[in-house]
Amino acid sequence: MATTSSDAIVSYADADRSLAGRVAVVTGGSRGIGAGIVERLAARGAAVAFTFNREEAPARALEAMITARGQGALAAACDVTESAAVTSFLTMVTSTLGPVDILVNNAGITRDTHVLLLDDARWDEVMAVNLRAAFTCVRGVVRGMLLRKWGRIINISSPSAHLPLGGQTAYAASKAGLEGFTRALSRDLASRGVLVNAVSPGLIETEMLHAIPAEALAQHIASVPMGRAGRPEEVASVVAFLASDAASYVTGQVIGVNGGLL
Ligand code: NDP
Repeated sequence: MATTSSDAIVSYADADRSLAGRVAVVTGGSRGIGAGIVERLAARGAAVAFTFNREEAPARALEAMITARGQGALAAACDVTESAAVTSFLTMVTSTLGPVDILVNNAGITRDTHVLLLDDARWDEVMAVNLRAAFTCVRGVVRGMLLRKWGRIINISSPSAHLPLGGQTAYAASKAGLEGFTRALSRDLASRGVLVNAVSPGLIETEMLHAIPAEALAQHIASVPMGRAGRPEEVASVVAFLASDAASYVTGQVIGVNGGLL
């Protein structure tokens, strides 16, 4: 029988509590990779706050599942492109769960189309969610991390940053920008114990893949050396490592979780 992500919570909760006492924030935690990251960080002992944009029901279900285990969890509606909403969300997190130790910038969108059809609105929307929001969230938590001399910032990138598909001018530019942001930020913060990395998932089974036509998707999967798409929890395991003390000498890196894509 296939193992579900909630089965994984039980086993990881028993085995590894390396994030106990930490407070984590995950943007876009309602579904897909973000939900997998929320589950895994919680299973390792962190109190986890996460945002949703439109899909409240799955976010509330995840929040209830974690709190039912007696652990801190907080789901909140927050459009990460709205700076004031991000500030209110982070204020609520700090007053409810405590100061933020771990930030995962996961919220992301695609609006793929040929450049001839790409208008300012689509370009700006992709940049605002995938790139500017990461900066907005960092700005909201970084001062406290520096004062406490401990922090982890993990940005979710994509192989499209260097190996884009057709129609991905905006998406590829946003993710290449996010990787540049990751490297530059890591330099500003490294000497104060705040480590910044990116995780670059390959094809992962989430709703984002529904935007790719079935035939093209089958071709992409066939080109993955491991011959299959990945699962959100396989990305989440690497994020949980980077969020832990075990990753104490890793910063400024982009780590691929992609079944062998180069
Ligand atoms: P999904 O489309 O499954 O989920 C996207 C998440 O982002 C949802 O939680 C959504 O919230 C949230 N979100 C979108 N816009 C906003 C916004 N304005 N404010 C707040 N939250 C928002 O995506 P994936 O899980 O597939 O992708 C997660 C990340 O991984 C993205 O950064 C993506 O670029 C990256 N990635 C994904 C790959 C894949 O194969 N799936 C491959 C490479 C990278 P809501 O549910 O409320 O709409």
